[in-house]
Amino acid sequence: MDDPLDEAFRPVAKDLAACGMSAALSLADPSLGVSGSRTAWLLLNGARIGLVAAVLGDAAGWQTGVVANQVQDLIHDNVRSPDGQVVTWPRCLITGHRHPMTALAESSVWVCPSDETVSIAIGDYQPIN
Ligand SMILES: [Zn+2]
Repeated sequence: MDDPLDEAFRPVAKDLAACGMSAALSLADPSLGVSGSRTAWLLLNGARIGLVAAVLGDAAGWQTGVVANQVQDLIHDNVRSPDGQVVTWPRCLITGHRHPMTALAESSVWVCPSDETVSIAIGDYQPIN
């Protein structure tokens, strides 16, 4: 059976790749995790930017939403464009919206925070031009 954190992370890594970011997990020292969870370092384009965790026993889709939220927070806190701007990830699919989409764990989708009828499954994200 696949590691639950790897499984939860796979769709998130696909959405990062769709935006030109290469992501991987590197298993962290178990002492860094909370009991009953699995914790790993997020490597983005080869650099370690922070910890992500999945709670063992949670449903796979839920875990993907939780991991997507953690990865989004790490990117907004740590990743800057070449001109020093916060990288908005994943940018809303509605033309003209400049905000990031919100990960909903209960349905494992990205949604527009101002129009929840606009959504896409985590793992199927493609940026608009
Ligand atoms: Zn929007």
